[in-house]
Amino acid sequence: MQRHVAILGAGPVGLDAALACADAGWPFTVYEAGGTTAAHVRTWGHVRLFTPWDLNVSHRMRRHLPNAPAGDDCPTGAELADRLLDPIAALPVLEGRVRLRTRVAALARTGLLKHEQIGTGVRAAAPFTLLLDTPGDPARAEETAEAGLVLDCTGTYSHPNPLGAGGIPAPGERALDHRITRTIPPTGDPDRWAGTVLLVGAGKSAQTAADALARLPGTRLEWVVRGPSPDWGAVPGDTLPGRRRLVDTSRALADGSCDRVTVHTGAHVRALSSDGDRIRADLATGHGPREIVCDHIVALTGYSGDASLHRQLQIHECYATAAPMNLSAALLGSAGGDCLAQPSTGIEILRTPEPHFFVLGAKSYGRLNTFLLRAGYQQVDEIAGAYAPQSRTPGRARAVP
Ligand SMILES: Cc1cc2nc3c(=O)[nH]c(=O)nc-3n(C[C@H](O)[C@H](O)[C@H](O)COP(=O)(O)OP(=O)(O)OC[C@H]3O[C@@H](n4cnc5c(N)ncnc54)[C@H](O)[C@@H]3O)c2cc1C
Repeated sequence: MQRHVAILGAGPVGLDAALACADAGWPFTVYEAGGTTAAHVRTWGHVRLFTPWDLNVSHRMRRHLPNAPAGDDCPTGAELADRLLDPIAALPVLEGRVRLRTRVAALARTGLLKHEQIGTGVRAAAPFTLLLDTPGDPARAEETAEAGLVLDCTGTYSHPNPLGAGGIPAPGERALDHRITRTIPPTGDPDRWAGTVLLVGAGKSAQTAADALARLPGTRLEWVVRGPSPDWGAVPGDTLPGRRRLVDTSRALADGSCDRVTVHTGAHVRALSSDGDRIRADLATGHGPREIVCDHIVALTGYSGDASLHRQLQIHECYATAAPMNLSAALLGSAGGDCLAQPSTGIEILRTPEPHFFVLGAKSYGRLNTFLLRAGYQQVDEIAGAYAPQSRTPGRARAVP
């Protein structure tokens, strides 16, 4: 008899994996920590994606939801959640399958410790035990569940990186954590951001925040960027207008296009401390030390997946990116920084030493920030193909254990 498939996370990739399970007739459950589907996407709901609907809707989603949005328009995160992901979660084929407010706190191979039965059939045959936190439900509070195949689609957005040099907290950062915004801030209420904002980071999230904050007349922006001469992730001949525009705006801000914005390149935050109601930041910059007293700090220095989830499993993580090793090597070996040009990976690349456990979606890219939904949907195709009884890869076909 087939065992359960456990899908961790009801983001876009987790929901696409759920449709794949439904199509294959496998028993499955999606465990979602948030109170809604797409909880991470909703956190940045005010941000417009730079990929259009046609790239954000998988072929499975389109088949199950024929009236799903299509075309070249780029949705906001909220539109993606409201117009695509919520309707997908409400489909009859997923009825009763998505458990909200259910965080997977840990998982293990039932009865086996991390170092036991390395590479043996015993390990492959043992089910997984999941420890579930259900804080909204005191009757259950903590419980366990079993699965034969686990797809970790938990994303990265709830685990922001510290802002200090080298990726560790700057002195004072932990004490002031409650004063630091670590998601792209909505700027609909300009008064909320009045005064001086210290922004740290140079990726697309930081560029999006800089673009929005620079438009607020009551805001002075001090933007701390690590690279001495950032290229802002420019892609030659970029076909995505939204991404191109962000690069152009960042360049212009660095060139002094707005007198309320200073871009400190080749800089990092050495320490933070309270200064009454304000915060003092000691910077090291290419032009020597600088002290900035600010009212708000926005740290957008990237996100990394929760590795503690698979601590008890045999996962070979890349020492540089923290992505599963095979996938990381493939991504690092692929040319160029354009996420649209990422290669299709193949099931072998997705495998980890732990049989029947896969990291999919944004988390599978570890520290690499080139993940696109399209790549996540391809990963789901790989899983569906490898476990389908009619797999096109002879000798590799297998039912869910
Ligand atoms: C601001 C921003 C803009 C982006 N723009 C684009 C774009 O234009 N185009 C594009 O293709 N990609 C874009 N991305 C990248 C990527 O596509 C998104 O991050 C996307 O949401 C990743 O989907 P996912 O399903 O892998 O993970 P997520 O959407 O992060 O979903 C993970 C889910 O898992 C849940 N979860 C977390 N931990 C647990 C746990 N322990 N137990 C149970 N549930 C858990 C979360 O609550 C969440 O709902 C963007 C990302 C960001 C942050």
